Amino acid sequence: MKILVINSGSSSLKYQLIDMETESVLAKGLCERIGIADSNFVYKAHGQTIERQIDMPDHKVAVKLVLDKLTDKDVGVISSMEEIDGVGHRVVASGEAFKKPTLVTPEAMELMEQIKDLAPLHNPAAIVGVNACLAQMPNTPMVLVFDTGFHFTMPDYAYMYAVDYSHYEKYKIRRYGAHGTSHKYVAEEAAKYLGKNIEDLKIITCHLGNGSSISAVKGGKCIDTSMGFTPLAGVPMGTRSGDIDFAAAEYIARKEGMDVSQMLTYLNKKCGMLGVSGVSSDFRDLSAAVEAGNDRARLALDMFAYSVKKYVGAYAAALDGVDVVVFTAGIGENDDKVRAASLENMDYLGIRLDPDKNAHCPRGTVAEISARDSKVKVLVIPTNEELVIARETIREAKLA
Ligand code: AMP
Repeated sequence: MKILVINSGSSSLKYQLIDMETESVLAKGLCERIGIADSNFVYKAHGQTIERQIDMPDHKVAVKLVLDKLTDKDVGVISSMEEIDGVGHRVVASGEAFKKPTLVTPEAMELMEQIKDLAPLHNPAAIVGVNACLAQMPNTPMVLVFDTGFHFTMPDYAYMYAVDYSHYEKYKIRRYGAHGTSHKYVAEEAAKYLGKNIEDLKIITCHLGNGSSISAVKGGKCIDTSMGFTPLAGVPMGTRSGDIDFAAAEYIARKEGMDVSQMLTYLNKKCGMLGVSGVSSDFRDLSAAVEAGNDRARLALDMFAYSVKKYVGAYAAALDGVDVVVFTAGIGENDDKVRAASLENMDYLGIRLDPDKNAHCPRGTVAEISARDSKVKVLVIPTNEELVIARETIREAKLA
């Protein structure tokens, strides 16, 4: 069984073809600058990378190029398109219109049209991606898999905002969260690694990357998550502010003459680590700047770790205790200093890191970094959002 996973952006398309018997990637790559001059096509298979500047005026052309390469007699990994059993499409926002992965049908695509404006940069791109794939593979089952899907098990008191209830009813204003496929994957991998039934575990999953979110997972189900109506909420991120008093944002907007949409761009693109440090949104650059004595870079990193720590403490309370803390994504998997600072002095909760294991954590595999006598296991787990999308595609399209 082979599943193609598609992640469409407004001018990009990432793809992976996964052999589900072995859950291994046969080929993957990226189409960049679709519809813009100097489009770039990247294809990785058989341990080789092919990169070409090819004109890609739209997503249909990009999908055709991907399929041509996958079936190419020299560099391809399948002999024909018929070998692709299903296509899983990543979708950023679902609103309350979709609460689980959903088969692509005309009705589902009609609903997708209605929720475009929930993620104006991402959801229209997903529609374009689905249509581009349908044009090439009209008879292949396709499934929409939402970043928000894993979070629909949150109780109402966790997902509601304390606003006029009619605005929830009219506009579905509430917490949706994001990175759901990642939180689900690492929670399940944690249970597998520990040889425990996920039903019996209370897990805090920290997806720390360019965008960061933290979830509380009880018995395999999400009960709270740090991102909100959009990915702007929660811990401060590369360029996003994270949680902020709305009145402070309004004050800045008034003083700087920004309208609401400019304010949102500011909070999403100019704040976070970049805004505080004035150096970079990338944690590697921030660490280097701290080494060189930059105090604002130090402040940004301290704010980040402090915020992660507060969420871990809050979610330990929400879960009535915690058995496992998992770190994943670019920062979570690679930055031992952030991991250490985020869990500093949490012995009272039963969380104790082994500094040596943390500092020498192997990359690309599940690693345990808690001290032998730590009541709470702390794990570093490489995330695999594409694999979750492929698994959900099989389940929803009833391919197995
Ligand atoms: P992601 O969004 O999961 O791809 O994570 C990307 C972010 O991870 C980058 O912006 C960096 O801040 C961070 N990152 C990646 N590699 C490292 C590393 N070796 N050390 C520290 N941070 C890293």
